[in-house]
Amino acid sequence: MFYQNGKKGIPSEIGKKFPDECVDKRRNSRKSFTKEILIAGTKPERERLFTCPWHINCSLYRKNRRKKSFIMNRRKNRPKKELARERVALITGITGQDGSYLAEFLLIKGYRVYGLMRRSSSFNTGRIDHIYQDPHDPNPRLQLIYGDLNDASSLNKILRSIQPDEIYNLGAQSHVRVSFDVPEYTAEITGIGTLRLLEAIRDSGIQPKFYQAASSEMFGKVQAIPQNEQTPFYPRSPYGVAKVYAYWITVNYREAYNLFACNGILFNHESPRRGETFVSRKITKAAARIKLGIQKELFLGNLEARRDWGFAGDYVEAMWLMLQQNEARDYVIATGTHYSVKDLLNVAFGVLDLDWQEYVKIDARYYRPTEVDLLVGDSQKARTQLGWQPRMSFQDLIRTMVNADLEEESKRLYGINYVMADSEGSAIYEPNKLVEAVDGGHSLKW
Ligand code: NAP
Ligand code: GDP
Repeated sequence: MFYQNGKKGIPSEIGKKFPDECVDKRRNSRKSFTKEILIAGTKPERERLFTCPWHINCSLYRKNRRKKSFIMNRRKNRPKKELARERVALITGITGQDGSYLAEFLLIKGYRVYGLMRRSSSFNTGRIDHIYQDPHDPNPRLQLIYGDLNDASSLNKILRSIQPDEIYNLGAQSHVRVSFDVPEYTAEITGIGTLRLLEAIRDSGIQPKFYQAASSEMFGKVQAIPQNEQTPFYPRSPYGVAKVYAYWITVNYREAYNLFACNGILFNHESPRRGETFVSRKITKAAARIKLGIQKELFLGNLEARRDWGFAGDYVEAMWLMLQQNEARDYVIATGTHYSVKDLLNVAFGVLDLDWQEYVKIDARYYRPTEVDLLVGDSQKARTQLGWQPRMSFQDLIRTMVNADLEEESKRLYGINYVMADSEGSAIYEPNKLVEAVDGGHSLKW
């Protein structure tokens, strides 16, 4: 005998078979029947428990009652379901190029993001203004905190108060040429700053996952081509040396204190948010300004140097992926292609139909006392273990940067967006259209 479904107040699971003797009882006991089903909880349990609740002598009923009370007790004693805690990330260097892309990325992933920001006499938040949230908002998901990698007490205080699940250490004196001018400071922030942060983690007693922004500059005078995780380091600048220290102290704390600490050995990565003294941005900005007639020449150093240039938006995804693995490891992140500074000039000036040779002059002050001639990475490990790969080509990257600079400079100059026309008068570039790049399935706009 089967009970029929569809009766008012009776869920559809009811079409079950019961001992014949119970059928009559059911007609008189619809209420308790319904109640029984509702008590019974999750679907599998409900199905298991659902028998004959009205016939006290039915063996099935007795058996299942015992089962039910066991399950109900277990459920009562189970700790209250934890409210899913939103993950908390701390980014040092949030005002920099990578920090800004990473903050966007983590906010989209649902993180609460804290950014460590150093005090400056002028605003240094230009790259994150578009995601800035007023601290007076009831629940801001992005918050900036004053601190400095040179100040251990600020790091200790911040870690204790925000208790991050993930820490991304991107803060650094990050310019290679400048590191020859301020070598001690570079060692202090880029090298020892990492140690201060690792010690603050140990002092605070929390166990966050830790990402260290290591650099291809550690390979310096390269010992193998291309460079991967096994290639020996041979740094060629105070910056490179400081990064080697930061790399090894991260490995040491991982091994000594069982910290989940990873080094991302990232090769050069650029974007319209790249600092204006790095060669890519210096060139794209100059090309735009020359096109607009507000700059006449561009002074550069070594045009033969070759780099593996990728898009910063692609690279921050790799940082996050490293911290989502079961085991902490170090990874090379690179495109595997390399171009010279001359190639970069060709693409950048080519976008605007200019010949760079008419404008570029060499200034020895941009040479480095010891140069890194060629960097090109082998990111096979990241591609297979993290499932990561770069999305934007070198040509698209430089084109995007030139267009963004043309837009920015024309706005600054004319207060309007600039539209370039080809010989027939039709618009070939409309800077007022936001540039979009696909990054991890979401759109980035700048
Ligand atoms: P960036 O634009 O120069 O940003 C550096 C960030 O560090 C800025 O937010 C800066 O703050 C902050 N910072 C500097 N000194 C600090 C201090 N004493 N305390 C706290 N913060 C401080 O560099 P990026 O291109 O985003 O690179 C991010 C990280 O990746 C850096 O560690 C860099 O060395 C490394 N890396 C970069 C590349 C690359 O091609 N971009 C490649 C390999 C590794 P301010 O805004 O106040 O200056
Ligand atoms: P780096 O790889 O971190 O040093 O990134 P940069 O963008 O600063 O430099 C990349 C390469 O471009 C280096 O080999 C520089 O020597 C070379 N380069 C040539 N001219 C210039 C210049 O005017 N500025 C910078 N920053 N680099 C230059």
